[in-house]
Amino acid sequence: MVIQKVMVIGAGQMGAGIAQVCAGSGFDVLLHDMNEEAMQKGLENIEKRLGRNVEKGKISAEVKSATMKGLSPSSELKDVATCDLVIEAVIENMDVKAKVFRELDHYAPKHAILASNTSSLPITEIAATTDRPEQVIGMHFMNPVPIMKLVEIIRGLQTSDETYEAIKVMTNKLSKTPVEVKDFPGFVSNRILVPMINEAIYTVYEGVASPEDVDQVMKLGMNHPMGPLTLADFIGLDTCLYIMEVLHEGFGDSKYRPCPLLRQYVKAGWLGKKSGRGFYQYS
Ligand code: NAD
Repeated sequence: MVIQKVMVIGAGQMGAGIAQVCAGSGFDVLLHDMNEEAMQKGLENIEKRLGRNVEKGKISAEVKSATMKGLSPSSELKDVATCDLVIEAVIENMDVKAKVFRELDHYAPKHAILASNTSSLPITEIAATTDRPEQVIGMHFMNPVPIMKLVEIIRGLQTSDETYEAIKVMTNKLSKTPVEVKDFPGFVSNRILVPMINEAIYTVYEGVASPEDVDQVMKLGMNHPMGPLTLADFIGLDTCLYIMEVLHEGFGDSKYRPCPLLRQYVKAGWLGKKSGRGFYQYS
């Protein structure tokens, strides 16, 4: 199967990054968001990032304009009718994703593959909301998408070999490295990473150390490029909480219980970098 045109759904930090990488690799991209303002902001962020890369001499002005030319905003989900692949990157919530996939199944051409960038939700369950479960797959990009090389490819119970192969080829065309993983809560990346972040939050909650000191310990002592609390702010504390809830429910094991401080921050609207405040403050 040949993929030429891609719709990315959700123009937040992940969706905008995915759209940028797809357009930069020569694909025609429609960027859709239910929120017009978020869509415009997503496109502006892409243009700003590319502009900075031109200033730093990482890409030419021609590459920037070719990438921007490959990107078109879409305000209607039914624009998907002309696409071969959809990559969904809306918020990490099963009800929201299920609704999007039901609509996509209705509007997307029969041959189209429907991929989700979910961080932790079961691909098998997302696939079951459609009449084409064999064409549904997980394509889990890492943040920031233009920089990080890994894409976890998650096969649902019914994902076909043909779908898997097409997505593996596509991932390579995006100059990313695909790693195949089974459909288990948190897959590999977040099953390991997010409980570590949750434990870092517990150390702050229990007064063992300040966020700055926890981050210092992990940077200087464990050679992590970024401390876990800085990383949590960067991922989004709401996303971290969703993932812990998925792990807690999926494995039924109390070792995955979300830290009360994480819940409190999310309730306060302290979602990390994207809201201006998390464990740190951002201007
Ligand atoms: P975000 O909050 O930055 O963006 C989500 C976007 O989706 C918003 O612009 C919102 O308006 C839009 N949206 C919500 N419901 C929609 C709908 N029904 N139709 C169309 N648009 C809708 O979130 P994000 O951090 O970009 O995360 C998106 C997805 O990527 C989540 O599933 C998340 O788990 C996953 N993910 C996140 C990270 C990370 O580090 N943040 C990493 C890998 C994967």
